[in-house]
Amino acid sequence: MAKEDLECSFCGRKKPETNLLIAGLDAHICDRCIEQAHGIVLEESKEGEHSDLEHELKLKKPQEIKAFLDEYIIGQEFTKKVMSVAVYNHYKRLLQPSTDDDIEIQKSNVIMVGQTGTGKTLIAKTVAKMLNVPLAIVDATVLTEAGYVGEDVESILTRLLQAADYNLEKAQRGIVFIDEIDKIARKSDNPSITRDVSGEGVQQALLKLLEGTVVNVPPKGGRKHPDQKFIEVNTEHILFIAGGAFDGIERHIAKRLNMQAMGFVASKSDEVIEKDNILKYIIPKDLKDFGLIPEIIGRLPVLTHMNPLDEGTLRAILTEPKNAIIKQYTKLFKMDDIDFTITDDALDYMVSKAIEYKLGARGLRSLCEAILTDAMFELPSSGETSLNVTQSYAEGKLNKSTLKKLKAVS
Ligand code: ADP
Repeated sequence: MAKEDLECSFCGRKKPETNLLIAGLDAHICDRCIEQAHGIVLEESKEGEHSDLEHELKLKKPQEIKAFLDEYIIGQEFTKKVMSVAVYNHYKRLLQPSTDDDIEIQKSNVIMVGQTGTGKTLIAKTVAKMLNVPLAIVDATVLTEAGYVGEDVESILTRLLQAADYNLEKAQRGIVFIDEIDKIARKSDNPSITRDVSGEGVQQALLKLLEGTVVNVPPKGGRKHPDQKFIEVNTEHILFIAGGAFDGIERHIAKRLNMQAMGFVASKSDEVIEKDNILKYIIPKDLKDFGLIPEIIGRLPVLTHMNPLDEGTLRAILTEPKNAIIKQYTKLFKMDDIDFTITDDALDYMVSKAIEYKLGARGLRSLCEAILTDAMFELPSSGETSLNVTQSYAEGKLNKSTLKKLKAVS
């Protein structure tokens, strides 16, 4: 058969009418049919994704969500429980069939209040991992009102798009973790004195996003530019999780609980108050007194607190979570065929140092580095097949390290 007589086996176009004709075993396909077929494949897989989500959610009830969180996060029982319910309800809302009963389920965005290093980001990350949805972690301190130096709130969605590899569908079902939300609290009670472009102004700008709206997002970030093409992102099904340390909020809580400054233990109702964890009693009004505007508080309806990490929790963080720090080092050494072990008293010693240096959970990692760097440098070329870290080994290494100097400055 002459070349020009070849035709597409799908649409019948002759070769000269096509840009490209690809030969198979005993059939041909033209470029247009390939494009169409590709479109069909994409459509089908989209439908598949939705049913995947349904499938996943059918499998994961709140208790199962919590069990997943338990594998990665030590303690924080209250927050894990609250978060499991919030996530479950959020995705139930996402899957709600359109009914005619006029009951519209509101978003269950979450706000977590607790000291830095207590696991707020870790919880957001773990939820995203479990649901297999994209996660954007943004710092509220860089946000400013549109038109001022800093980033517009839309940049949050640019990050989410990037995390979703620009798959709009995926981004629109993703999670945004806004860290340091307390830093955009109103700076003073009288906002008219100076313009508060990184405080109340940002809170106002965030409102729309939290509530659910369609936002024009510059795909590459940066300022909006008239010539730039935007991607329209609908935030209705995005779960927002905000976190912040809210330093000093305890004062507002204590005042509300009618506690005296020098600490006493009974509130009006004579209920005993745990003085060293006042955060536990936080209610939305305290956030308002701290400087969040009521509208923002209303759009972050699920409020939870993080407990400070005590010795026992820090000790467990070292070895228990699925990807606990010690497990990670064991794996690293294993790759060089080195059997890594660490004694209980060495672990206790690290915990006591983390507390002494006020490093919290984040510091455990720096301590491990300080103790193990020499071994990680020397052992791979030494032919050694084991390393046992004892308390005196750990002490020796730490005394040499710069971490020790931290103590002098803190
Ligand atoms: P935050 O966001 O509250 O400042 P992070 O989530 O970033 O704190 O925590 C810092 C690190 O500390 C985490 O990567 C994790 O290794 C560890 N960590 C903190 N709290 C916990 C916890 N409750 N369970 C397990 N690991 C924790």
